[in-house]
Amino acid sequence: MNRRITRREMLHRAAGAAAVTAGLDAPLAFPGVQEAAAPPLNRNSAPSDLKITDMRACTVAANYDYPIIRIDTNQGVYGLGEVRDAGVKGIALILKAHILGKNPLEIEPVLANVRQFAGQGRMGGGYSAVDMALHDIAGKVYGVPAWRLLGHKRRDRIRIYCDTTGHKDPKVYGERMLKRKKMGFTFFKMDLYTSLVADRPGAVHQNGAATEKGLAYLCEYIQAVRDAIGWDTPLAADHFGRLSVNDCIRYARAFEPYQLAWAEDFISYKDWRGYKTISDATTTPILTGEDAFGLEEGFQSLLDNHAVDIIHPDPETSGALIETKRIADYADMHGIPTALHFAGSPVGCMASVHLAATLRNFIVMENHAVDMPWWGDLVTGPSKPIIQDGYIPVPDTPGLGVELNEAVVKEHLRYPGYFEPTPMFDDFIVSGFRMVGPWPHYDEDGNYVNKITY
Ligand SMILES: [Mg+2]
Repeated sequence: MNRRITRREMLHRAAGAAAVTAGLDAPLAFPGVQEAAAPPLNRNSAPSDLKITDMRACTVAANYDYPIIRIDTNQGVYGLGEVRDAGVKGIALILKAHILGKNPLEIEPVLANVRQFAGQGRMGGGYSAVDMALHDIAGKVYGVPAWRLLGHKRRDRIRIYCDTTGHKDPKVYGERMLKRKKMGFTFFKMDLYTSLVADRPGAVHQNGAATEKGLAYLCEYIQAVRDAIGWDTPLAADHFGRLSVNDCIRYARAFEPYQLAWAEDFISYKDWRGYKTISDATTTPILTGEDAFGLEEGFQSLLDNHAVDIIHPDPETSGALIETKRIADYADMHGIPTALHFAGSPVGCMASVHLAATLRNFIVMENHAVDMPWWGDLVTGPSKPIIQDGYIPVPDTPGLGVELNEAVVKEHLRYPGYFEPTPMFDDFIVSGFRMVGPWPHYDEDGNYVNKITY
């Protein structure tokens, strides 16, 4: 295709009817125009004829289960996606009947058709996995990284924060965090369970919240971690237990001297009024969102009312690339930054990296598997280690830029079977209503037909 062509050939092509067809399999040629000026065409597929032919899945058993899906096409190009950690593959597979036969490059119409089946929490995982797989396919077909399909690459590497599990001894907790810092991380989060101080007399009220005495003990843990990693380093906190709005305010005010990056998920993300009350009463930044799906369904009230200081969507629940970009852009319009929750496999991780690369108001993204030695081995494609000095480089390879390492995935399957056939999902399970196209049914005259009758 890139052979040099003579000026004579160029003139011939430009002059004759052959020029019309030559454009399909050779760079268009014009007299006097350098051959090199012709854009390279990716011929991996004929996009207009591309059709979704299958969806299959497998589940990796790791710190949480990682349900991974594969969407196949009639031209050998396929896409990988991931359902929310600790979710199940079925939440994606029930969407199979609704996407079969559709052109995977028509990403927004395909997603619009299945949005009615996306719910909050783990129920957002199927929609999100499909979004990721469609971006993987489209990127491969067009020869561009997934971030290019979303917008502009605003950063070349994504800052990662690591969750760190607690220890009863504040000194040990501090040492654990220092170990993270020595791994290269520059942003940290600690679990600050009220239960950490529950065995100390007078520390926890009968309602389950820390007393003033208990809050002072909890602050000893933050103090120990601050002493270990320094006061100028971002440090967030999570997992306080079930608290009332008033108790959340007491906690948040007690934490103020430590300048936390945020206090996470004090109450349910559905209670924007509660969040507004808490965040208006403290200088500790308030964050939530890891279980919310969709802008209208999950985030809009929090943002319209400026009820939180930062949002924290998990791309495997919130709707993955397109929807989370919408959510983050809407947050940005309200002056609210976006951090990303993430606790899945490298497939969903890299999809989230592509997303994060394009966000105007991005702060940091979570990784929950920094202690799992084989986590990065699940895939090939990204440069290794995947997290380098606390950051993940943004790939420029087509699609998500990640392929499964079949041998390693097979070593860690939750259930037997690696992308086995899924004929049980060929028919409609969650709804038989067809948005468009023919379907077999009785028409109003009582005839059994297979066509649109409205
Ligand atoms: Mg959390």
